[in-house]
Amino acid sequence: MRGIRDPRLLPIAEKVLEGKRLSFEDGLVLYETQDLPTLMRLANLVRERKHGHKTYFVHSIRVSQTNICYVGCTFCAFQRRFGEEGAWDWDVDEVVAWVRERYQPGLTEIHMTAGHHPKRPFSYYLDLVRALKESFPGVQVKAWTAAEIHHFAKVARMPTGRS
Ligand code: SF4
Repeated sequence: MRGIRDPRLLPIAEKVLEGKRLSFEDGLVLYETQDLPTLMRLANLVRERKHGHKTYFVHSIRVSQTNICYVGCTFCAFQRRFGEEGAWDWDVDEVVAWVRERYQPGLTEIHMTAGHHPKRPFSYYLDLVRALKESFPGVQVKAWTAAEIHHFAKVARMPTGRS
């Protein structure tokens, strides 16, 4: 394969071309490399080998249960304080109803991110995911960013991962 700028990718490219399995160490090199054009070419080669010219898409709906947030990032036009114009703060049933109104056959994912609410207990988030899973079986719930998980960990006084 020509045009590889990161020499560490040469043996990996050979493996990919030969259809060999990559190692954990190969994965770390792919993660670190700045040679994104080669990375993309290798990824596309494997994709086309597996799936030809088919491409698969996620059919996703985006929902935010609240825009109430105490963090105050200076770039953020989304955040609102309690009582501020444009603020919303939905209970579990309201989130489910909002999704149900917009539900279309073929939906594969409910993508949820929102503000860092200062008062909602951790149980609210568990109830919310449970209600969405029960109301829309078979639809993946992709919920919350690392920053939100950090917020929930503080609310629940729990660690963010297994230790
Ligand atoms: S944490 Fe998110 S919602 Fe809150 S202010 Fe920052 S970017 Fe906005």
